[in-house]
Amino acid sequence: MNSGKGGPFGCVIVKDGVIVAEASNQVLSDIDPTAHAEITAIRLACKALGSFQLDGCILFSSTEPCPMCLGAIYWARPRKVYYACTRKDAADAGFDDDFIYREINLAQPDRSIPFEQVNLPEGRAVLEAWKDKSNKQEY
Ligand SMILES: [Zn+2]
Repeated sequence: MNSGKGGPFGCVIVKDGVIVAEASNQVLSDIDPTAHAEITAIRLACKALGSFQLDGCILFSSTEPCPMCLGAIYWARPRKVYYACTRKDAADAGFDDDFIYREINLAQPDRSIPFEQVNLPEGRAVLEAWKDKSNKQEY
């Protein structure tokens, strides 16, 4: 935070008692709204472990992960997450974590960024091709 890289957030990922990755929020320095501490730490940990899964890992976050990071954590599948501050604490400091959690529960047209399905057969064809792919690596 004091280096000017981003907000007051940090994340450490541990496996078998050893730190495999640590990161801070780098949204400002990377000019990247997805450069949250958890996302960056997950990317570093996966590279360090040579796996797209964080099997047996523990993720420590300075604040309850935002919905984006929650999704990334579920995709990475660590064993457990510990966090210090809550999403309400983050909101009190001026961050949108709690707001985005509340948006998820709204009907898509009611969200501040409306979502609308465009039902194109070409889109479904890609998923059908994936289902039929014989040499795919499941994740
Ligand atoms: Zn996040």
